[in-house]
Amino acid sequence: MEDMKEQIDMLVKLQGVETEIGSIQSILNDAHRKLETLDAGLVEFERTIEEQEAILEELKKKYRDYESDTRINLDREKKTQAKLRSVKTNREYQSLLKEIEEEKAKNSKIEDKMIECLDRMDEIEKNIAKKKDEYVQASNSIMKEKEKIKQELEEGGIRLSKLDKDRENVSRMINPELLKKYLIIKKQNPGGLAVVPVKNALCHGCNVILPPQLYNELFHCDSLKFCPNCQRIIYLKDS
Ligand SMILES: [Zn+2]
Repeated sequence: MEDMKEQIDMLVKLQGVETEIGSIQSILNDAHRKLETLDAGLVEFERTIEEQEAILEELKKKYRDYESDTRINLDREKKTQAKLRSVKTNREYQSLLKEIEEEKAKNSKIEDKMIECLDRMDEIEKNIAKKKDEYVQASNSIMKEKEKIKQELEEGGIRLSKLDKDRENVSRMINPELLKKYLIIKKQNPGGLAVVPVKNALCHGCNVILPPQLYNELFHCDSLKFCPNCQRIIYLKDS
């Protein structure tokens, strides 16, 4: 193969393009993950607000129940008061008075509970307002962040499609047999290199010194050579 040097140059170029594709893809994956995390943060806010609103609804319902209980008790008390006017015996009178006392005590207990309920409602309403404020702030900053990420994704996508074309073009210039070998070695070295330079007889794929004869042969550039230690395609690089 006379054009071995040229072919190796193409392989190195292809490898460079593929390395860049890999790093852009990992940047894009990170960006996608980041978008998901940001969305999840907002969902968490919404969930908290919904929970608080549900608690508030419960309290309002409870409060209405207390109100109606109070009304019922007051009615009963009024009726008992009315009966007072028509009693005949002192015993009856005393027992009605006792009833009235009990009804008053009941209502006073309910009133305490109502006050407690109002305090709690107030507290939760404040919480909700605070959360909603925070939500607006968070969603503003998340929106900005998302815009930035989306722009990164778009730019990355454009760069990626350009690199894909480069890969196609460079691949076409490489001998199919050679390309096949390259791809096999690449598969065996995931994330690593398949074509590596040799400098001062040292393989830069595995940092092992090549046998002198193989190293000498590399200078001829007339056939494909592999590192006997890491099996990668090797080429000479003097600088
Ligand atoms: Zn090696």
